[in-house]
Amino acid sequence: MIRIDVSKVKNWELIKKKHSEWYEEKILPSIKKAYNLLSKKNKNDSIKEYKELLKKIKNKGKNFVIERELFLGYNHDYLLDLIKKLNNTNISENYLPHKLFSYDKFPNHTGKWNRHKLLSLMGIQVCPYCQRNYISSFEENNDKRTTADLDHFYPKSLYPFLALSLYNFIPSCQICNSRFKGSKDTYNSVYPYEESFDDLGAKFKTSKEIIYEILGEKNSGFSVDIDYENLKDEDNKKIQNSVNNLGLNKVYKKSHNHYIRDLLDTIEKYPEKYLESCVEIFDKLYKNKDKKERFIKHFNDIIKEPYRKRIENGEPLAKLTKDILDEFNIKI
Ligand SMILES: [Zn+2]
Repeated sequence: MIRIDVSKVKNWELIKKKHSEWYEEKILPSIKKAYNLLSKKNKNDSIKEYKELLKKIKNKGKNFVIERELFLGYNHDYLLDLIKKLNNTNISENYLPHKLFSYDKFPNHTGKWNRHKLLSLMGIQVCPYCQRNYISSFEENNDKRTTADLDHFYPKSLYPFLALSLYNFIPSCQICNSRFKGSKDTYNSVYPYEESFDDLGAKFKTSKEIIYEILGEKNSGFSVDIDYENLKDEDNKKIQNSVNNLGLNKVYKKSHNHYIRDLLDTIEKYPEKYLESCVEIFDKLYKNKDKKERFIKHFNDIIKEPYRKRIENGEPLAKLTKDILDEFNIKI
């Protein structure tokens, strides 16, 4: 999982402005109305806690949906409990959070502000959850569209009042959003606006057998694991939850073996092979050990360049590439 560094999102302030203004116009009035009605009419203590939550949200005004702190200082279990209890009260459904903060009210591509505009302005090119799939923008009928899903990090079924919060929106690929994550509770897992697997020290690694396979000595299969066992308990648990929620161990296990084989093969073997094939042309060069080594080093650098760029630009499989090269002590 990759961190979404909002300081690098060029349009972040504009996104915050547009999103909070949209919320102020389209959503906030009904929240104020619901709070006022519930305060006046209902003296029932069973919704006392909910009224307090609504009051806090109302008082935040338009900033509620662009605040980084999503839980308003509440304890996570307390909020889950509060939402559950609400389902057993007899207040009108229209005043419940899944209606007040309904994600259906956020347009897909119509109006001044919508999902496609938000995703295009964010400009995230690769799914931060898996770093395997592109989630790029494209144009259709002179309009910006995107192939990304807008995932709710904290699922709207469990935390309905966060269904419109900007810092709960993660641009992601469909596989991560629908196939794996669904509505699992992500509370104790890695939150991309704060940290990444790399920040916490989790690494991809292969079985060492791979090296034999690459050198052609042994035709053994290999698989990729995500190694986080030696991290401190708290981080270990968070990474484990993210890996399970997103199926990362499954999608990385064998899917990119061809890529890894090519990567190591290219860097380890091509410079020598290339030089051998040029031996007649560069006969003198090849016989001079010093020059030969310099040539190999230079050629090696050229060959590594695309991988260096992949890592630098955060393209799909960037972390896998970085970690595998690390594992085999290949400096890039
Ligand atoms: Zn993904």
